[in-house]
Amino acid sequence: MHELSIAQNIVEIIHKHIPEAEWEKVASVHLKIGKVAGVVSDSLDFSFQAITAETSLRNTRLEVESIPFRVLCNACGVTTENEVGFTVCSECGSGNTKVLSGSELDITEIEIAEPAVKIS
Ligand SMILES: [Zn+2]
Repeated sequence: MHELSIAQNIVEIIHKHIPEAEWEKVASVHLKIGKVAGVVSDSLDFSFQAITAETSLRNTRLEVESIPFRVLCNACGVTTENEVGFTVCSECGSGNTKVLSGSELDITEIEIAEPAVKIS
């Protein structure tokens, strides 16, 4: 399962970037996932929760931002979006295009919860 190995990767990245003493405090991981990256965010979320359930990352949530598939046309200069990874310009029909986004899978932020302030 593709999403499971990505979830394992996310755990490894957290372990690499955050000191072990802080793992319990990792509140969320922000991800940018392109529409055509081939990743189902619900499955990724499910896999991540499953593999972290009994660990110090059990309270960590994934915050996924979905990135549209965007194509810049070199012929007419218009940027268009679609859901399926179609690289032909939908304005003028030219195939002379450049893909701007939509296939990425990036971790943009690891958020650490601040310790609660006790007011007695
Ligand atoms: Zn065009």
